[in-house]
Amino acid sequence: MDLIMNNTDLSSFEEIKNIKKQYGEKLVILGHLYQRKEILDLSDYKGDSFALSKNAAEQKNAKHIIFAGVHFMAESAAILAQSGQIVQLPSMNAGCPMADMAELADVEHAWNMVTDALPGQTIIPITYMNSTADIKAFCGKHGGAVCTSSNAEKLFKWALKNGDKIFFFPDEYLGRNTSNALGIPRDKQFLWNPHKNEEYSAKDISSAQVFLWRGYCHVHRFFSEEHVKETRTAYPDAVIIAHPECREQVIANADYSGSTSFISKYVENAPKGSVIAIATEVTMVDRLAVEYPDKKIIPVTRSICPDMFQITLKNIKETLDNIGSRNVITVSDEIKKFGGMALRTMINVTMGN
Ligand code: SF4
Repeated sequence: MDLIMNNTDLSSFEEIKNIKKQYGEKLVILGHLYQRKEILDLSDYKGDSFALSKNAAEQKNAKHIIFAGVHFMAESAAILAQSGQIVQLPSMNAGCPMADMAELADVEHAWNMVTDALPGQTIIPITYMNSTADIKAFCGKHGGAVCTSSNAEKLFKWALKNGDKIFFFPDEYLGRNTSNALGIPRDKQFLWNPHKNEEYSAKDISSAQVFLWRGYCHVHRFFSEEHVKETRTAYPDAVIIAHPECREQVIANADYSGSTSFISKYVENAPKGSVIAIATEVTMVDRLAVEYPDKKIIPVTRSICPDMFQITLKNIKETLDNIGSRNVITVSDEIKKFGGMALRTMINVTMGN
């Protein structure tokens, strides 16, 4: 750990370390890559949302799972948790505006319209991990799956092999970037606006191959084509990597696009002296710059996720002081069953099982 912390943080850091020692393998802290360095230094597992959901599913000995991430991630861990395991989120203010853009009632309404308009056709619902537990359960119940930015292409291919069309929630941009990468023509990508006043016609619906829910991550939508071009001009030798939640023009102008795990591995493996500009959440970019001082790691522009930033050493310590009782994340049996089916389908398809 080489960040400068204030005295309160330093004492929380040491106390958390001691509590972890006391609980041993009964306690696991999962840290998303957008968390601050000092939090990841205390995490037993750190990764993107796919890796962490797999880690959560594999915890056989841990009774307590503390999720340093946002609410939908802790919900996914609760869906996959074994009986008796307790999942806690250090701050209930750590939500995700994008996850909240797909509400179950709107999704069910859209689903009924599409399935009524396409009798005899198989529509596979896929939801991005960044969605609420009831949307994951909806997908599981209708033969679909979850995906993350690291496996979206695999899940789209799986869905098109097993069905006629995909309904993808809630991130339009990840859906477009994945569809573009798979060569699905633009006129077959149907943008579904849940706030449109009039109904879509059966003719509109029948021409689509992929329905894209109109949702977005404000942190990644902030990046523009101009930001990428300005970075290219200022740093002509830089390799530019953009997260697939960015707009398609940003992806088209970047050198690579990939999940947080892809970005981390790229930086780790890049030769000394490399210049790498990254279009994703800036806490992660700043952390990579500290961890790899022999490379120049810069943000394409600074865009922070205020929700991820809600997790602090202080509230992790408070959670551990109230282990098993503070901010416990639970899901109903129904959501556990169907959400679990959707998450396990993702894990199986991704691992080639
Ligand atoms: S970075 Fe975007 S998708 Fe991730 S938690 Fe923040 S708002 Fe949600």
